[in-house]
Amino acid sequence: MDGKRLEYKGEEALKELERLTEKSDEVQENILKEILKQNGLTEYLNKYLDGSTEVSAFKSLVPVITYADIRPYIQRIANGEDSSLISGQTITEMLCSSGTSAGEPKLMPSVAEDLDRRTFLYNLIMPIINQYVPGLDEGKAMYLYFAKAEMSTPSGLPARPVLTSFYKSKHFKCRARDPFNDFTSPDQAILCTDGEQSMYCQLLSGLVHRHQVLRLGAVFASAFLRAISFLLRNWAYLCNDIRTGELGSRITDPECRSAMLDILKLPNPHLADEIKMICARTSWKGILCQLWPKAKYIEAVVTGSMAQYIPALEFYSAGKLPLVCTMYASSECFFGVNLKPLCDPADVVYTILPNMAYFEFIPLGDSGLMLMDEEEKVPRSKLVDLAHVRVGCYYEVVVTTYAGLYRYRIGDVVQVTGFHNRSPQLRFICRRNVVLSIDNDKTNEEDLHNSVTSAKKLLEPYHALLVEYTSFADTSSVPGHYVLFWEIQHYKTNGAVNRMEAHVLEECCMVVEEALDYVYRRCRTYDKSVGPLEIRLVGPGTFEALMDHFIRNGASINQYKTPRCINCKAALELLNSMVEACFFSPKNPTWNP
Ligand code: AMP
Repeated sequence: MDGKRLEYKGEEALKELERLTEKSDEVQENILKEILKQNGLTEYLNKYLDGSTEVSAFKSLVPVITYADIRPYIQRIANGEDSSLISGQTITEMLCSSGTSAGEPKLMPSVAEDLDRRTFLYNLIMPIINQYVPGLDEGKAMYLYFAKAEMSTPSGLPARPVLTSFYKSKHFKCRARDPFNDFTSPDQAILCTDGEQSMYCQLLSGLVHRHQVLRLGAVFASAFLRAISFLLRNWAYLCNDIRTGELGSRITDPECRSAMLDILKLPNPHLADEIKMICARTSWKGILCQLWPKAKYIEAVVTGSMAQYIPALEFYSAGKLPLVCTMYASSECFFGVNLKPLCDPADVVYTILPNMAYFEFIPLGDSGLMLMDEEEKVPRSKLVDLAHVRVGCYYEVVVTTYAGLYRYRIGDVVQVTGFHNRSPQLRFICRRNVVLSIDNDKTNEEDLHNSVTSAKKLLEPYHALLVEYTSFADTSSVPGHYVLFWEIQHYKTNGAVNRMEAHVLEECCMVVEEALDYVYRRCRTYDKSVGPLEIRLVGPGTFEALMDHFIRNGASINQYKTPRCINCKAALELLNSMVEACFFSPKNPTWNP
């Protein structure tokens, strides 16, 4: 069956990609038949299909759902009930998505075979890139990958992010034999769950091998920039280790220590001097090309919310290294690959791999403005299958998987830009209803509103009122952080903010952070990939001026709503010009794994 034949490499993998995309509709139909055959009798599907395993019954009877609908089943499995509630195969792990539900990470069921599907997609990446950038088997890749500490469900199933699951699998470990996958980072450093030690060791090995490195990367652009910022703070220590051939005492993880000592081997003062000379420069513009002179590109996701990091990556590479986006994937399922890896980030499209899952699409019109709320019931008849999407139109992606998600709304908005053979090519537009995102965090308007509502209560004893607010993801420094612009009435506007008032606004920052979701708090406290939240107090009349600005630029007075997040440069400049004082969260929010 198409879902099973997954062990392809090199040329063979490309041929398989052609074969699959040439008959996408047939592959999709077979996938759905197979899922229904295996899973038709699960408690979940049986409820709707009453024992039928017919495709037509599925299409007319199974509803389009969100996480809230499937969550009770997932919770029951996590608590020890049988996988057969939702899947004909054994659920082997729960994948923690960066999406959240009721403040907790969403848990996505996964079956053993899913690893083969993900590996099939990974195995396509190098053959695709090799068509455009030859010779990558003659050197190394400095990819900064990070695993997270694993948890387990009450029934003992591993609960971990999809990439941690992959790094721990034999599929990842087997790559060692493939010259196209020769990484500078030792597995022990990738698997070390102490982020600082992992980062230090991975950069150290990347620097030791700097003359062999042919490509740089991380999964998301945010992680790659964090590595540059870490390097900025730590290059002197890294140079010292290279100079002496000894590992500093900050690396305490025994597996990392032994792997790194193997890499350091002997003192190398010459290499340390080279690196020191480069890093000691006042400007780091183009530093990546100097430190890794043979690097041919940077691989990282720079589409969607990650596009905000393109200018920084271009600065550090002096615009000389192409930014390569290879794939579009999620914890629920992997979607597709970019067949033109060297294209401009703005032109990236992902070709759907029809053997990953059964895909359907909710049409959002040809302007993308007909977004549907999460709560809104989507009529089954509205769904379009993969063969019937239209070029130029916007859609929300819906998947049906072997592991037990049926007509599940992923929450991503995409635009169909064309077809590769018979498979649609998608431009990633946005995550539905996300207003702020720095790293894995995805804060929607409602979360933001609820957290601001909790915090503004602290103003009441001071006879102060929050008149209006908006927000902005500030990524001008690393790590980026959330900024809230607050206009407060009855507040002293002469700039003399007394100690008590400053303290109150700092507390407001803390309350907002505490009220944001689990993934935000994890990024702040554990990953340290998001910096302290800031409240910028703006003077009276600021939000009226903001409204005037938008109305001048075409917004309707009748329908004007203060945008809860500002992305436009002119509006940001206006807000920043009215700032009277800034306050930062003084401590990390609570986060328990
Ligand atoms: P997670 O479930 O935590 O793995 O997050 C998956 C989500 O990350 C997807 O649903 C997208 O919203 C986003 N994502 C993944 N790959 C890309 C990509 N290539 N471009 C833009 N966003 C992406």
